[in-house]
Amino acid sequence: MTPSQASVPAFSLQALRAAQPLLWTRPDGGAADTGVPFGLADVQAAHDRFTRFAPLLAQLFPELEASAGVIESPLRQAAAMQQALGLAPDGGRLWIKADHALPVAGSIKARGGIHEVLEFAEKLAWAQGLVAPGDDYRKLATPAARACFAQYQVAVGSTGNLGLSIGVIASALGFRAAVHMSADAKEWKKARLRARGVEVVEHPGDYEKAVAAGRRQVQADARGYFVDDERSPSLFLGYAAAALRLRDQIAQAGIVVDAEHPLFVYLPCGVGGAPGGIAFGLSLLYGAHAHCFFAEPVQSPCFLLRMMAGHGQLPGVPVPPSVYDIGLTNQTEADGLAVPRASDLAYAAVGQSLAGVYTVADDALYGDLARLHDSEGLRIEPSAAAGFSGPRHLLDSPAGQQWLRQRGLLPHLTRATHLAWTTGGLYVPAEEYDRFLSRGQRLAAAPQAPTDAPSFHLSRRA
Ligand SMILES: *Cc1c(COP(=O)(O)O)cnc(C)c1O
Repeated sequence: MTPSQASVPAFSLQALRAAQPLLWTRPDGGAADTGVPFGLADVQAAHDRFTRFAPLLAQLFPELEASAGVIESPLRQAAAMQQALGLAPDGGRLWIKADHALPVAGSIKARGGIHEVLEFAEKLAWAQGLVAPGDDYRKLATPAARACFAQYQVAVGSTGNLGLSIGVIASALGFRAAVHMSADAKEWKKARLRARGVEVVEHPGDYEKAVAAGRRQVQADARGYFVDDERSPSLFLGYAAAALRLRDQIAQAGIVVDAEHPLFVYLPCGVGGAPGGIAFGLSLLYGAHAHCFFAEPVQSPCFLLRMMAGHGQLPGVPVPPSVYDIGLTNQTEADGLAVPRASDLAYAAVGQSLAGVYTVADDALYGDLARLHDSEGLRIEPSAAAGFSGPRHLLDSPAGQQWLRQRGLLPHLTRATHLAWTTGGLYVPAEEYDRFLSRGQRLAAAPQAPTDAPSFHLSRRA
């Protein structure tokens, strides 16, 4: 064991099993089972594909006219939210990457999901001679092109948001679209898809079962294409392309990222594809100066378990581990994050670079959802609030302080940028949002519990 591994508190598995909010930081070394065959050129290619499709997207979606077909969200400073969270200015400044407002899909899934369907459509269109490289892709909106796409089925298994993204873009291009959903998917998401002519297939059981059932059904269709949330490189690279856009926004905002100006990024994590792609992209661009943390519900810390297993910290648990293996339930109201087992692809891509993973109780999600509404006037869904626990974990917990000290970051905190990625919310119906908000406002009014009390007591004793 290296010294830093030894200092990972031995109790954290116990606290994890007890569904306590906690912060895990990655020890140096270990994790031999990582590495992916992509690099910056692949991320750039995904970015360029979005650019080629932009004129067509502007034509298909009126909400994209103003941005000329570019699907992007603002980067904005959040001084009022920073104050609402009680984060002192000398700990750095809080910003928000507002993917909850991403048009077309209403969540971060607009990035990976739409990219994958565009890549499939582009390959088909090239193979069938519908467009050639360099052409104006608005040709793909012609009846001949749509008739070709209509012969193919695009399908996906999803807890909701990925289904929304794939279903909406696939049907807009003229594909037959099917979304396989788990029992916990929200009614309004199913209704929104059905209204667009997408077939919604419901499966009993959790997200993993819906994906497996969807995959089986599509494999039987010679003209079926299955978007695989757990294994798809195209999905992953669509997310990673966000890093290139963010780099431009960061520069435009005058934010410096270097050794003396650390960037901390807090990303809500389900299967790991979206946060993994983004963290991978950011590590290509900023190297060790971007410190990415994933945020997971206390009952669904699948990526945390995968990281622990990869670093030899989960003896006796099968690899890849699931949250059920340690007695957790995968029950959370953060439906975008209710995933029992992490994506191997995402783990392979970031297992060696991710700074850490922390867990969040549902109550904290609702509290931060309400704080964000009351301070900044932004409307997000519960999953998308997970990023806001990040600065608390990092700055106010013994585990966070210890990590900052070990990495030599304490002297630079006052110049740090904390970026909370708000991952969804735009299309949540008003009645549903109002329920979230009133629950959150009740909780936000109550005093906050410390983020990782068990680590506090144990590390004091240590
Ligand atoms: C899907 C989703 C995430 C996480 O993405 P994964 O690829 O599953 O890790 C986070 N927030 C919201 C709102 C989502 O829908």
